[in-house]
Amino acid sequence: MIRTDYHIHSTHSPDGHNTPAEICRQALAQGMTEIAITDHMEWKPGARHMQPDFDRYFADLAACRDEFGPAGLTVLSGVELGNPHEYAAEADALLAARSFDVVIGSIHWLDGWNIHDARCFDGRDPYAVYTAYFASMAAMARDADFDLVAHFDRIFWAGSSRHGPPRPERLEPAVRPVLEAMADRGRVLELNGRFLTHDPGWNDTLVAVMGWFREAGDAGVVINSDAHRVSEIGRNREVGVALLAEAGFEEPARLGVLVTLP
Ligand SMILES: [Zn+2]
Ligand SMILES: [Zn+2]
Repeated sequence: MIRTDYHIHSTHSPDGHNTPAEICRQALAQGMTEIAITDHMEWKPGARHMQPDFDRYFADLAACRDEFGPAGLTVLSGVELGNPHEYAAEADALLAARSFDVVIGSIHWLDGWNIHDARCFDGRDPYAVYTAYFASMAAMARDADFDLVAHFDRIFWAGSSRHGPPRPERLEPAVRPVLEAMADRGRVLELNGRFLTHDPGWNDTLVAVMGWFREAGDAGVVINSDAHRVSEIGRNREVGVALLAEAGFEEPARLGVLVTLP
């Protein structure tokens, strides 16, 4: 059985707690067969997440492949781009200079606010915030160059704490264009494990969104942890597998088959 996690942060991200080697060791202990180490790349002025030293990053990845490949772990290189459609020249230059196996596109910033900050809802109807967030994500899915959309539901964390869980039928007009652009461009959708056991949760919304993605002609769904420390690798994966099945997906997509390792 293939067990994967394509969204993991190492000490090459300022908020990552473990080295690539520590991550690989833990992934193997959990029975993972294929992972990507995807550190933050941000261009927004003043962003807390900076820009990795990719020479050191790729040297670490090569050492991990030598050490953990023979034990059965495929280690893919990767990067998580924050709002790449708003920094198109910079994103293009990075992807031209470096060859990543997995490129993640994330909306981390909306109208100048970090989306983890509940103040982005100040004085606004929550559905107006969600609509703006998904409009930005649709633009990213159309215009930027990347493989998978991370944590498309992350805005609901701050929104739900203030306004209760989002209602799928009110999100549908804003979310369907994102999924159609993704299907059209072959972008994979991430089901992020972080909030799958959160209270208040929005798992019914996740199932609805994955169903709309299927209707759009989906390019596949993966279950990722977005781990920033080794104890978070593979978190809530079984919950994710159940939600995927509920949405009609037989199994998570596999990215490693799309790349050729040296
Ligand atoms: Zn992120
Ligand atoms: Zn991340």
